[in-house]
Amino acid sequence: MKDTGVFCHTLIRSVEEMRERDAGLPVKRRVGPDGLHLFDRRTGLNVLLDEVDVPQAQWARAPRQVSIALTNACDLECPFCYAPKTAAVLDAARLCAWIDELDAEGCLGVGFGGGEPSLYRRLPQVCRHAAERTGLAVTMTTHAHRFTPQLVDALAGTVNFVRISVDGVGTTYETLRNRPFAELVQQLARIGEAFRFGINCVVNASTLPDLDAVADLAASTGAAELLLLPERPARGRLGSSPHIVTALHQWIAAYRGPIVLTLAEGDTGSLPTAQPLPGETGLRAYAHIDAAGTLRRTSYHQAGERVDDRGVIAALDRLQQKGAA
Ligand code: SF4
Repeated sequence: MKDTGVFCHTLIRSVEEMRERDAGLPVKRRVGPDGLHLFDRRTGLNVLLDEVDVPQAQWARAPRQVSIALTNACDLECPFCYAPKTAAVLDAARLCAWIDELDAEGCLGVGFGGGEPSLYRRLPQVCRHAAERTGLAVTMTTHAHRFTPQLVDALAGTVNFVRISVDGVGTTYETLRNRPFAELVQQLARIGEAFRFGINCVVNASTLPDLDAVADLAASTGAAELLLLPERPARGRLGSSPHIVTALHQWIAAYRGPIVLTLAEGDTGSLPTAQPLPGETGLRAYAHIDAAGTLRRTSYHQAGERVDDRGVIAALDRLQQKGAA
């Protein structure tokens, strides 16, 4: 790009102004160690201008993505659930202030979970706040069974992507989730009419044999991707054995269907994966806030920092310092 120098100069002088201008726009810009990152929350399109070199002092201070557990409440009792079972729920006003701060500090998206986020009373208001007052993409992970037509209407236009938990099909699903599989399929159709969506599948000895069927279901219902999550150790369960993880990786390597497969960072093993943003690792890339308002590296990490009146970035700095100590 011939004019890169001029463009960079303009960019460097106007990062603060750029952040202000971006509020409410669908295409958001983020600067960091890998360059200038453009993100369109409506489509999920990412563009990285890696020739843009911005001084470290102007890099985004917020993680690229933050997951937020709105509540620990859930009406299901999945055997592999790792969500805390103590009662906790986030205050909506504090939550909106954190969302504003994350947006201003260069975060690209928040992912609401729990517990079950559809049990959070102020969910439509919080999603509308994020959609109308910030440039953040809003995603949500749900079991889907509480998505009534009224809730779909209330969230339409404010949620950019819905992740639906589908662990196996037929009786496998019904045994694990204790809900009719036919009802889930109806919910996929209802949600798919209003939102871009993907399927999340916990992979363990029970669900591994169903992976072909889950991928077929994802394709036939119009899902954009299938996120494969090896079961984690939690509450007395050991999680997926190395044997199951190896079998999962073999299945992925052999898969030739149309659905985009995704894995969480740390679950990829020796599989060939793309690393588009190699400079953004750890807390630059991702953080989690639990339903008690504690910021952690991931929902699996024990160590955390309470998000108090000083805000999310202050808690992030304290957590970063702890990690460095
Ligand atoms: S739906 Fe999710 S939060 Fe609820 S019990 Fe199952 S795994 Fe846990």
